[in-house]
Parts: sequence; C-alpha cells; structure tokens
Amino acid sequence: MAEACCDIQCFYSNNAYLIKELALTSLDGSIVEHYIFRAPFPFHDLDLKDQQTNAYLTRNKHCLNWYAGVVNYSQLPLILERIGREYAILYTKGKQKQDCLQNYVSRACLVVDLESRNCPSLLDLSVYPAARCYMNHPSCALTNCVRMREWMDADLNKGVGSLSISTSRSPDCAFETRSVNHPVYNNELFSREHGR
Ligand SMILES: [Zn+2]
Repeated sequence: MAEACCDIQCFYSNNAYLIKELALTSLDGSIVEHYIFRAPFPFHDLDLKDQQTNAYLTRNKHCLNWYAGVVNYSQLPLILERIGREYAILYTKGKQKQDCLQNYVSRACLVVDLESRNCPSLLDLSVYPAARCYMNHPSCALTNCVRMREWMDADLNKGVGSLSISTSRSPDCAFETRSVNHPVYNNELFSREHGR
C-alpha cells in the first residue's frame, strides 16, 4: 500500500494543534495534495494566551494569517480520514505532529515521526529542491513534504539499510512488522520554537 510524507502548519487552541495548512506527497512523487483551511472560529474567541501565541506564529514562524485559506475547516477530518484509507504509512516530522495526525487517521494508517529516525532539521534539508505553495511563506508544509521525501529518496539511494516499522500501536492490536527500504535513523529531539 502507498506511503507518503505529510506535514502540517498549525495554530493552537486550548493546548491542542489546530491545523492551518496540510500537505502530502506520495513517496513515488506521483501525488501532491495541499490545503490551507479557513479559520474555524473568530480570532477573538481564542483566550488571550492563544491569541498571543498565534499572533507570534503569524509574525515570526509560518506567517500564515488566522483568516487565510479557502478550504472549509469542516473538511479537515474528511480529508485526513480519506488520506488514512489511501496510505499505509505517513511520514512526518515531530512527535506532536505525529500525534495530531494519528488522531485523525484510522489505526490502519501508521504515522511515523522521522525525527526518531535521524532525519535532519528541516533547515538542513534545504539542500534539496522543493516546491512551495501559493502563500509563499516560511515553513511551508508543502516545502517540508517535498524535502522530507527528497531526503528519504537520497538516503535510500545510498543503500544505508532498511527500517523496520511496527504497525502495532496498542497492546490489543495484533503485532505486525513490515520492512521498508528506508534508512535506520537515530533520535533527534524536537523543540517547539515558540517556547510553549
Ligand atoms: Zn504553504
């Protein structure tokens, strides 16, 4: 079954990720998806701390405005449910993104954190060519996806080894291990740069 790289750029609400931008590239490069979602509610409905955090993200990190986007937020779970049916494995970067995506997709789709597999910082992946979305902003999810895929491709071509991925995620789930021809990566800690 197919595998893909997936990245999200988010705001925060009540200590939870609120997905603003979602991008996906299949590992074979044949499929690219990209969405920027409309605001789920008015900015002033956020508590003051979340308003400050999200304003910081807009000014200094992903630079996406709270009100940017054209896809209704109500479509987000439907899109991710469908992606979860279409892909056996989604590769992303960061434990929180991994957890956020895994909450949306079915248990049949495994979300893998590339940070635990020695994937360098996204800044260090800038050596790879990438696309960017129409918003032309920093930390674009589409750019990140393409670079993650390019990195996996490059290491795969080096013949570094293979990564065994367990698709078991809970004690009551039948254990299954699949061998995927990607490198064995080391742990790398992810830090939320905005300090929350
Ligand atoms: Zn973008």
